[in-house]
Amino acid sequence: MHSLWDESEITEFKLSFPSNLPPTLIEQIYATRLLGTDKKLVLHGGGNTSCKVKYKNILGEVIDTLFIKASGCNMAEVEAKDFIPLELNRLLKLENIKEISDEEMIEYFVMSRTLPSKSLPSIETLLHAFLPFTFVDHTHPTAILAITNRKDCEILIKEVLGATVELIPYVKVGIECALAVKNAFQKNTSCKAIIIKQHGLVTWGESAKEAYTSTIDIVDRVEKFLEKKINKSIQVNYSNEKSEKAKSLYVKIAPIIRAELSQVNPLNEEIKKSPILYLLSNPEILALLEKKDFIPYLISTPITPDYIIRIGREPLFIESVNFEELTTFKDTLCKKIEEYSEKNIKIIGKYLNGKISLSKYLPKVIVIPEIGIICCRDSFEEAKRAAEIMAQEIEVKKNIFESGGEYYNLDEEHCIDMEFRIYQRAKVDKKEEGNVLTNRIVLVTGAAGAIGRGLCSYLLEKGCCVVASDLDKKSVDDFVKELKEKFNTSRIFSLQMDVTDEVSVKKGFQTIVEILGGIDAIVVNAGIAHVSNIENMSLSDFQRLEKVNIEGTLLTIREATKVFKLQNIGGDIVLISTKNVFSPGASFGAYSATKAAAHQLARIASLELAPFNIRVNMVAPDAVFSYGSCKSGLWSAVGPERMRSRGLDEKGLEEYYRNRNLLKAKVEATHVAAAVEFFLKRSTPTTGATIPVDGGLPDATPR
Ligand code: ZN
Repeated sequence: MHSLWDESEITEFKLSFPSNLPPTLIEQIYATRLLGTDKKLVLHGGGNTSCKVKYKNILGEVIDTLFIKASGCNMAEVEAKDFIPLELNRLLKLENIKEISDEEMIEYFVMSRTLPSKSLPSIETLLHAFLPFTFVDHTHPTAILAITNRKDCEILIKEVLGATVELIPYVKVGIECALAVKNAFQKNTSCKAIIIKQHGLVTWGESAKEAYTSTIDIVDRVEKFLEKKINKSIQVNYSNEKSEKAKSLYVKIAPIIRAELSQVNPLNEEIKKSPILYLLSNPEILALLEKKDFIPYLISTPITPDYIIRIGREPLFIESVNFEELTTFKDTLCKKIEEYSEKNIKIIGKYLNGKISLSKYLPKVIVIPEIGIICCRDSFEEAKRAAEIMAQEIEVKKNIFESGGEYYNLDEEHCIDMEFRIYQRAKVDKKEEGNVLTNRIVLVTGAAGAIGRGLCSYLLEKGCCVVASDLDKKSVDDFVKELKEKFNTSRIFSLQMDVTDEVSVKKGFQTIVEILGGIDAIVVNAGIAHVSNIENMSLSDFQRLEKVNIEGTLLTIREATKVFKLQNIGGDIVLISTKNVFSPGASFGAYSATKAAAHQLARIASLELAPFNIRVNMVAPDAVFSYGSCKSGLWSAVGPERMRSRGLDEKGLEEYYRNRNLLKAKVEATHVAAAVEFFLKRSTPTTGATIPVDGGLPDATPR
C-alpha cells in the first residue's frame, strides 16, 4: 500500500472550496477522499474522519468544534457539507457517562450542533471527540481485518507492529467503543494507533497528512507481513469453462431465487416485492468454493459487524443441488430458506425478545459452490454493494485460510446489536423507502426512439430499474449514459437487441437475468412505420413492418413469458399500440395492419397469461412527435407526406393534430409513460385493456 498524498495538489484543492471554510477541514476532506478511494481501506459509507477546529459562530464567539463525517456517506466523495460541526466541550461531558442509548445519543448530537445539518453525525463520533488530536482517521482496512479476525491475532500484531499500536477487543460501537479507545490510549500515550479487533484501525496526527500517512504505514506493514505468512496458496485453473457453466446454471435458477425471496408488497398486495440479484463469480471464487475446508471460513460472521446490515449475519449455503430438475432445486431452496429463517429468528429472539418480532428472516447472500456468490438485495445499488463487500470478505478469509489461521467468529450478541440498532438501520432503510414501482425491473424495447426515451426517463424517475433495449447499440448506449448522469444512478442498463431475431431476443432476456436476476415487466415499444397506399405498396416494405411490429411483439412477449413463468410471481406486459388500430389512416396500411396484429396478439396473451397473474394491457397514443430533441421515427416517416398533402410546415402539422382531438391536447411521450405507469402500478384489476392517449378521438375510442 502506497501513500497517495500529493503536496502539489493541496494549494489548488484548497482554492476549490469557499474561503470561509477552515483550512484544517479542507485538508481533512482531501485526506478523507484519499482514504475513501482505496477499497482496501474502507467500503461504502464505512469509516470516518474528523478534525478539531476553533470555529467562530455568528456572535463572533470562538467555539472548539469537532467536524465529524456524517453517518453512511461515502468517504471517496465527501464534501464539506458531509462534515457535521459539533461543540467539542459538550461531547466531552459524555466521558463520564457509561451508557447512552442511540436515541439519546442522536438527540444529544442534535443539541450539540454549531450549525444546522440534515445529516446524522457518525455513530463513532465520540471516539473522535475523546482522542486529544486535531485529526483522527478511522478505517476498516482489509489487512487489519485479516489479522484481527484470527484467533492468534494478539501474537501476530505484537510481532508485526510491536508497541506502536494498542490492540483492544471488539467493543460495542458507540460510547463503549469510544471509552475503550480513550482508555487504551491513556495506558500507552506513546502509541501511534489503536486497533479494534474485528473492527478496524484508528490513527491520528496534528496534521491531516500525519494521520493519513500513519494509516498507510500501518496497513502496509500488516499487508507485507500477511503475504509472507501464506503457505497453502489455492491453485486456480483459469479455464473459462467452469465460469461459463456457472453462468448458464445461474440464468436457469436466478428467477427461482427471486421468487422464493419475494415478499408481499405492503404498498400493493397485487405486486410482489422481489429482490434484485448480483452474481459474484469468477474462476478464483469457483476454485475457492470447491475447497470443502474453506467453506466454514466463508459461512461465518462478517469480518466487521458494520457489514451485517448489507450481507446479513452469515450467507445461506446450498450444496449438492440437482440443477437438472428445476422443481427439485426449487424445493431444496425453499427448505433451506425456511431453515435459515427459523434458525435466525430464534437467535434474534434470544437477544431482542419482545423488542422486535420477525415473521421471516431472509438471506442477503446465497452461496452455491457450482455457481458462485449470489447477493440478493432490494435495489441494484445495494446488491452490487453487497457483492463488493463479499469480495473483501473472501479476500480476508482466504488470507486467513491460506496462512493456516483460524477464523474468529464474532459474538452473536454483537452481531445482533449491529444489525438492529437504529443507527445502522438508518443507513439501509432510508434507501428502501419508495413507491410501488421502486426497484421493479422493467424492459423497454425501442428505447432509443422518442416514446422509448420518454418511457425510460419516466420509469427511471419513478424508481424502476430500467433495461433500455434497441437495435441501434450506439444510440441506446449514449442515451443510457445520459440518463445515468442526469439521475446520478446506476439502475439503468443498455441492451442491444434485435426484436425480429429469435436468438437475439433469447440472448437479451438471458442478459437481463444475468445482470439483475429476473424481470418484473416489459413495455413492448419497438415499432416502425411506412407510408404507402395499397396500390403501390411493395411487398418487401410490408414484410419489413410485419417483422418488427408483429414478429417483434410475438418474440418479446414469448421470451418474457418464459422468465415470468419461471419466477412464478406474476408479471406485467404493456404494448405500445396506436390509435390506428381503432381508426386507421389512408396510405398507412402497413403500419395500421401490422400494429392491429400486434394488438390482437397482446389481447390473446392477456387471455392465456391471466392464470399466471401476468397482465397484458395496451396503450394507444396518437401523434407523439418527439421527446426532447429526439424526433419520433414514426413521424419522420409520416410527417413529410402529411405536411405535403395538407400544405403545412412541421409546426403547422403539430397544430393540425392538436386541433383534431377533443381536448386540443398536444400528446407527449410522458403521457404515454403515465398510462404505462397506471398499468404497472396495478391499481385496478385490469388486463386486456387499452388506454387511449390521444386527447380524445371519438373514432378511435376502443370498444
Ligand atoms: Zn468503524
